[in-house]
Amino acid sequence: MKILVVNAGSSSLKYQLFDMDTNAVLAKGLCERIGIDGRYKYTAAGKDEIKGDYTMKTHADAIKLLTMNLTDKDHGVISSMSEIDAVGHRVLTAGDIYSDSVYVTDEVKQVIKDCIPIGPLHNPANLMGIEACAEVIKGVPQVAVFDTGFHGTMPKKAFMYAIPYRYYEEYKVRKYGFHGTSHRYVSGKALEMLGNPDAKVITCHLGNGSSIAAVKGGKCVDTTMGLTPLEGLPMGTRSGNLDPAVLSFIAEHEGKSTTEIVNMLNKESGVLGISGVSSDFRDVETAADEGNERAQLALDMFVYSVKKFIGSYAAAMGGVDAIVFTAGIGENNCKMREDILDGLEFLGIDLDKEKNLKTRTQADVSKPESKTKVLVIPTNEELVIAMDTMEIVKNLK
Ligand code: AMP
Repeated sequence: MKILVVNAGSSSLKYQLFDMDTNAVLAKGLCERIGIDGRYKYTAAGKDEIKGDYTMKTHADAIKLLTMNLTDKDHGVISSMSEIDAVGHRVLTAGDIYSDSVYVTDEVKQVIKDCIPIGPLHNPANLMGIEACAEVIKGVPQVAVFDTGFHGTMPKKAFMYAIPYRYYEEYKVRKYGFHGTSHRYVSGKALEMLGNPDAKVITCHLGNGSSIAAVKGGKCVDTTMGLTPLEGLPMGTRSGNLDPAVLSFIAEHEGKSTTEIVNMLNKESGVLGISGVSSDFRDVETAADEGNERAQLALDMFVYSVKKFIGSYAAAMGGVDAIVFTAGIGENNCKMREDILDGLEFLGIDLDKEKNLKTRTQADVSKPESKTKVLVIPTNEELVIAMDTMEIVKNLK
C-alpha cells in the first residue's frame, strides 16, 4: 500500500510518499511560496534533490506539481497517481470533537472549519490541502490526523483553565496541546524500549516549537501547550508561559491591541526576544560562547523551564520511568540534554555523559544502574500519519 502524507501550511505544502510494506519513504518534497510565485524541492529516495521555480497560485497547483514529480519518467517513483491508495493529512485541530484520526467526509471538513478560531493559521491551510487533493487526485480516500489528538486523554483537571466556566461551555476555551503525533510516536517507542507498557514517561519535543508531555501507560495526562501553541516553554520566537496581566500592561503602555501583542508573543519573543540574536538555538549558542550575556540568558531560561516541567510532570504522575528527548534540539543538542538533566539526580536520573555527547540517534543514554532512563528517540510524525491513514483505509474496504 502506498500512502501520501501531506502537511499543508498557508503558503507551503510538505509531502512524503510511503511504501507501507516497508515503511520506507519513496520520495519527499516541499512546495513553497504558494500564492506568491512558487518554489519547490523534490527528492526521490537515493537520488539527488531537485529544486526549481513553478508558478503555484493555489494549493491545487502544488498538488499538480507533486503529481508531476512523483510520476516523472526520470525522477518519479510511481507510474500513475492511481498507485496511491490514500492521502493522510496533518491537521492542527478538531477541538474536542475528534481525538482519533478520521476518514475525511463533508462533516469532518465542517468540524475542521468550525475549529478555525482555535487554529486560525493552520486549520484553513490544512483544509486547502484536503480540497486540493480532492480536486487533483480524484477519488482518493483522505484521512485527517490531528496534532491535538494524542492529548485527548488529558483529565479535565489538567486541561481546564481556572477562568469563569462559561468560557469553556460557550467557546471551548481549554488546553488542547500540540505536537501530538510526535509525543505519541516517541512515547510508544519509549514503552517498547523500556519493555513496560505501563511506564510513566516525560516526552520532551524540543525544536523551534517545543512542548513536553506527561504520558502514563501510553496515555497523555498533561502537556505544556495550551489553547494555542503559545503556552508552555519559551521557544524560538514564542514566549511560552507568562503572567496574562503582561498583556494589559504592555497594551496600556504602548497603545497596542491584544492582537498585536499576541503576535509579538508568537513571533518576536522566546529565545529570539531575549537574545536579540536569532530564533535558531545554534546561532544563540555561538553568540553565548562568544560572551553574549543575553544569548546565555535565553539558553538558561529555556533549560530552566524544561527542567521545571520535568519536575512537575514527575509529580503529576507520581514518578517517572524515562525522560525522552526528540526533535531538532532534543535529538541533536547533546550538551543541552546534559544541562537540562543536571540537578535532576533526585529523580533517579544517572546520565552517561560520555554516551550522551555522542548520541544523535535512538539510544538509551543513561547508565545501566539509572533508575530513570534517558532516551533519545528521533521523531517521525509523518510515519504516524501514514500508519493511521493505512489503518483507516484498510477498514473502509
Ligand atoms: P525543529 O523545529 O525540530 O526542526 O528544530 C529546530 C531547532 O533545532 C533549531 O533551533 C536548531 O538550532 C536545532 N537543531 C537542529 N539541528 C541541530 C543540530 N544538528 N545541532 C544542534 N541543534 C540543532
